[in-house]
Amino acid sequence: MPVKSVRDLDLKNKKVLVRVDYNVPVKEGKITDDSRITASLPTLEYILKQEGASVILMSHLGRPKGGERKAEFSLSPVAAKLSDLLGKKVTMADDCIGASVEKLVQNIKPGEIIMLENVRYYKEETDNNPDFARKLAKLGDVYVNDAFGTAHRAHASTEGVTKFIPGAAGFLIEKEINFFEPILKNPQQPLAAVIGGAKVSSKIAVLESLLGNCSSMIIGGGMAYTFLKVMGKKIGKSLLEEEFTETAEKFLKAASARGVDIVFPIDHIVATEFSENAEGLYIDSSDIPDDCMGMDIGPKTLALIKEHLTKAKTIVWNGPMGVFEFKNFQRGTIAVAEMIAASKGITVVGGGDSVAAVNKFGYADKISHVSTGGGASLEYLEGKVLPGIKAIEK
Ligand code: AMP
Repeated sequence: MPVKSVRDLDLKNKKVLVRVDYNVPVKEGKITDDSRITASLPTLEYILKQEGASVILMSHLGRPKGGERKAEFSLSPVAAKLSDLLGKKVTMADDCIGASVEKLVQNIKPGEIIMLENVRYYKEETDNNPDFARKLAKLGDVYVNDAFGTAHRAHASTEGVTKFIPGAAGFLIEKEINFFEPILKNPQQPLAAVIGGAKVSSKIAVLESLLGNCSSMIIGGGMAYTFLKVMGKKIGKSLLEEEFTETAEKFLKAASARGVDIVFPIDHIVATEFSENAEGLYIDSSDIPDDCMGMDIGPKTLALIKEHLTKAKTIVWNGPMGVFEFKNFQRGTIAVAEMIAASKGITVVGGGDSVAAVNKFGYADKISHVSTGGGASLEYLEGKVLPGIKAIEK
């Protein structure tokens, strides 16, 4: 179902309560990466352009335990940064609910912005406590959710508030939906899915969900070895999830029944130990010697992947092809990022580590869509209903 857009809301003379994802890295009071703040500007600028509209911002930052208040989790540096970026005063509230905040909001003038303090200072936020949600909702006339990164959580500020005031999606969430929805519903074919990462257990739901829509699926990373084992290959000391071999077997049968091409590594870069300085050895075979573990995919596998990605009109990528954090084992992931960046089709990268990889290796601006939500994008691809999005459906 399509979501309501911020454009569908009548914002004239309204106090607009906006949930943003300002969960930014802060070191000694300084923000080390402000991309999440920058990403929110189009929605905020749109709202502030509407006659008489004002903005009340809410976000979480970090994980205050049990709702404890600690200066390190304060959104104060974020308010200062936002003020710099907008060239406008941003008033920092000392709390996110309560009498003093209500008074501050009552006196807000058109065009002004208030940043509420961290909503996770209250454990009622993650509990999605209705009374807490009502207190938040009281601060606005309408609600806009632009925090895709927390849309898979039914929290008070992402879901609860919509029970009290009308809500819609900001431009960031809208963009995420516009890229992910067609992949699950009606992708431009051929669709190639590239799925990697450490474990079958954390990716099997995505594999199963995408199986119905893709014409080929490339499986790399640590999770490939459980499949290779099931296929009768030798995997040496590579990552193996013994308890998932049956699941892997079932998946392979389902893929073959659907006629989906599944591409597994046919050569490997291996190591004798899992370490940053381990030497990478090339194995020109799908079988890995007993004393070695697969750490990255080899050049023949990359050539095979290229055949599929060159043909694809849509590519979705989740999870690195190898241990890309170690420089001897990052070539496979870099090469795949490069192939995806070179594609003329629609390319979508979702999931924490593959997003980190395209950013780290400098391909992000050549990808149609790099998701802002790790867990949320994974759950989206699994075909799950995201509560924060469900709450603002039309
Ligand atoms: P995920 O969060 O499930 O996408 O997994 C990402 C992690 O998988 C990264 O930290 C990679 O280092 C790890 N990974 C990728 N390939 C391998 C491999 N062959 N062996 C062990 N870990 C791997």
